Amino acid sequence: MPIGICKFCGQEKELIDSHIIPKCLCAINKNGGMVGVNTKKKRIEIDAYHQNGIKEPLMCAECDNALGKFDGYTNRILNHVIPNLQPQGFMGGPVIVRYLKSDNFDYDKFRKFIISLVWRFSVSSNGPNLGKYEDIALKILKGEIKDDVNLFLPLIYRKITGISLIDDSTLCGHVKYLGKHTIIFKFPGYEIRIIINTKNSSDNELMQHFKTYSDINGIMITDVTEKTPTDNQLLNQFSECQKALFETEYGKKRLAAIKPKKNL
Ligand SMILES: [Zn+2]
Repeated sequence: MPIGICKFCGQEKELIDSHIIPKCLCAINKNGGMVGVNTKKKRIEIDAYHQNGIKEPLMCAECDNALGKFDGYTNRILNHVIPNLQPQGFMGGPVIVRYLKSDNFDYDKFRKFIISLVWRFSVSSNGPNLGKYEDIALKILKGEIKDDVNLFLPLIYRKITGISLIDDSTLCGHVKYLGKHTIIFKFPGYEIRIIINTKNSSDNELMQHFKTYSDINGIMITDVTEKTPTDNQLLNQFSECQKALFETEYGKKRLAAIKPKKNL
């Protein structure tokens, strides 16, 4: 194992390969292979978890394990608690949402998970430059400063389009959403968008609305049953890369294992 400075504790130690998106959240994929979309290099990575794009030596084993506790907890919430919550129409409309109330879960652990995702991505080699928010995230994780949902606001979507490539792919990306820097994490069954510093959004009303459903009283989880514009972008990128991959023996073999459930 390489020796280096652990990004979390700052000590010189043996570093282990840390997963940007926790491995446990990807292990539930029962639909075959997995693809990772590297938005920076604009390429699709087959079996991304066995490559360097999504895991890299960031932390010592001790720090990685400490953050891993939030991953394991959140995995249980996302994949066992949320799917069993009562579905309801959002404000009487056709959009299906579920509310995770504070008596169903440990808000603090869940918040630490959200912030650790942002932090891990930010310190990784493919991550975005978050400026001061990287350090703020680290200090919140260490308990040195108070958490603030206005700085890291998560929007949680269950992906149930029935299209394997959309529902089961893994991706860490960086977009502008409502005029704010937003990190997108996709992993089987979910897409989590985390808005960095919600102040001065291009749509303050909608932002306020999102905040109402992401506090200690409860978190809203929205079902996504149709392809979104981001999904379309993802699919376009995929088809661009698909042709090139099919020309290699390895690509042929791996792509055969990730045939979507439906025609795209
Ligand atoms: Zn460490």
